[in-house]
Amino acid sequence: MDIQTLLDKIKSYNPEANLDRVRRAYELANAAHAPQTRSTGEPYITHSLRVAHTLTDLYLDEDTIIAALLHDVPEDTTVPLETLHKEFGEQVAKLVDGVTKLSGLRLGLEQTHAESLRKMFMAMAEDARVVLIKLADRLHNMQTLFALRPDKQRRIARETMEIFAPLANRLGMYNIRRELEDLSLKYLEPDKHKEIENLLLEDQADQQTYIAETIKLLRDRLAEEKIFPLEIGGRPKHIYSIYNKMIRKGRDFDQIYDIRAIRIIVASVRDCYVVLGVIHSLWTPIPGEFDDYIAKPKENMYQSLHTAVIGPRGKPIEVQIRTPEMHHIAEFGIAAHWRYKEPGARVDPAFENKINWMRQLIEWQQDIADARVFVDSLKTDIFQDQVYVFTPKGDIIEMAAGATPIDFAYHVHTEIGNRCRGAKVNGKIVPLDYRLKTGDRIEILTTKKGGPSRDWLNPGLGLVRTVRARGKIRQYFKHQARAEAITEGRVILEKELHRLGLDQGNFEELAKLFEFKNVDDFLEAIGHEDLSLQTISVRLLDAEREKAPPAPEMPPPAPIMPKAPEVTLTVKGVDNLLQHVAHCCNPLPGDPVIGYITRGRGITIHRRDCRNIVTEDVESERLIAIDWEKTDERAYPVLVQVRAFDRAGLIHDISGIVSAEHVNMSTASAVTGRSDHIAIITATLEISSADQLTRILNKIDRLPNVVEARRVTS
Ligand code: MN
Repeated sequence: MDIQTLLDKIKSYNPEANLDRVRRAYELANAAHAPQTRSTGEPYITHSLRVAHTLTDLYLDEDTIIAALLHDVPEDTTVPLETLHKEFGEQVAKLVDGVTKLSGLRLGLEQTHAESLRKMFMAMAEDARVVLIKLADRLHNMQTLFALRPDKQRRIARETMEIFAPLANRLGMYNIRRELEDLSLKYLEPDKHKEIENLLLEDQADQQTYIAETIKLLRDRLAEEKIFPLEIGGRPKHIYSIYNKMIRKGRDFDQIYDIRAIRIIVASVRDCYVVLGVIHSLWTPIPGEFDDYIAKPKENMYQSLHTAVIGPRGKPIEVQIRTPEMHHIAEFGIAAHWRYKEPGARVDPAFENKINWMRQLIEWQQDIADARVFVDSLKTDIFQDQVYVFTPKGDIIEMAAGATPIDFAYHVHTEIGNRCRGAKVNGKIVPLDYRLKTGDRIEILTTKKGGPSRDWLNPGLGLVRTVRARGKIRQYFKHQARAEAITEGRVILEKELHRLGLDQGNFEELAKLFEFKNVDDFLEAIGHEDLSLQTISVRLLDAEREKAPPAPEMPPPAPIMPKAPEVTLTVKGVDNLLQHVAHCCNPLPGDPVIGYITRGRGITIHRRDCRNIVTEDVESERLIAIDWEKTDERAYPVLVQVRAFDRAGLIHDISGIVSAEHVNMSTASAVTGRSDHIAIITATLEISSADQLTRILNKIDRLPNVVEARRVTS
């Protein structure tokens, strides 16, 4: 391989190429690498030439070939990238730089597998030619791997098997893939490789004779049909594929059909079928081995007729029949062999779409014969509206161009979106309005609880750009508003029920009482204040009163009255459980009276001049001013309990509120806890309306020191 061969080859498919420019690149590379040799002992430039040559097999453009010749110059010589830029322009410099960066890939060392693929993908998104050069470079390195130390051989072979062969496969570059796999196997499974190679070698003379015989037979028979194949020959053996069939499928070497395989290229589609007919009439077809990919091309445009027959001397032989156009497509990578030869191969849909796109473009490239247009279209058409970014695990996510980390977070999972608080791109914290770029690796920083911010919906801030994320954020707030109102409503209602002494209230019954379909709607209405507490209290108390007002009871602890009993209570003129007319003096309504707070029996009403009261034995704290009053007919007794931090004048204040409402306080008692100084004042109020009760409770509630004022029921 010398430069002239290369130039001739370029000229054969690209007559417009500037061959002088290619030659200058060669001369620069040759001079720069001059003192260096490869591990094989050959001058370094042989490597550059081989890489360029491989790319001419793919009919690549002038810049790519030039970049291939120069690809190791900046890294391995003293000539800097700037010189290449000056001499050969930006395109070439970018390609060389891309290849140099890709050479940093080291599987399982400083980078993970996913990270390597990410870099590869990034390079591809930037310019697919970088990857094509890299593959050609790797191919030659594999071809000369024998010259390296065994440990290096194994590492590089493994890397090739795990990254570069699958990549070549995905790109549909069948020949490169096959060679990379066979060479890798040679270093990874030297014994197995050798075994298969030997089997092929032992067989080789036989096979060649056999193939030659078969071809001769076929040619003669085809000539009778006036068909003269353009090409007819054996197919290159794929050792790794044979290895897989033997190891994985447990087949004998002799049972593998493609050990004997021929490929026939004829001028027209019609001829393909004629040839097929002739073959099937000559030899018995093996059932299940016939595929018509001409009538039914594979998704990636691959076309061919495939069959296997029991050939001469009873040996199985595989046959492929196609036109030159079909052959071209297959060789250029349209044939996605990996689809059916790699069962269980993981296929990323986004990546696959991309590759299908590339295949179509490659096919299209056959027509336009200018790879530069192909590459440009790759850059513009595929990557214009979309960006391809990576999860921390290396999964590819396709996003609309302009998407932000929040968009990405919502794309991954709604919960991740809701809890997104920050983002790292390629390991660095970025602002949330950062625009994702192809190749970015995004890590979303989340909080454990909480939701999105309303700011996210502000278009001016540019934090969210996808319709999907916006929709999810709106949905969140809608749910959130309702959930908050329900929670709030529940708290309000529980508090009120507690206050009204209706703790046991059943929410469902209440919802029904207020004609709501369900409890949540009811609570939401309360939370939103569509339903006022006043309305609820009144309706509840009225409803409860209609049932049967429970008789209030005296609380058990001994009451202790504060020292200033000048408060005036009003009493009804009849006995009830909590107030008794004293039998010693039998006061009548209208008599001046005074109340005596008994231990456990409520208030006894005495005449002011009763000797039992006037005596010094009476604890003055237990006396309470009392007056008669005509009772409201509608009044009903309600037991109210007030909890407060004890203070002087508390009872006085409470009595004042009650009096101001013209409500009778028929009983009252107070106890103060020794340790917590909490006074519990219990009183029976003659309430005439629900409104009145809530009003009184509200007022007492607002008194200083009062913790709680509520109705108690038995
Ligand atoms: Mn190289």
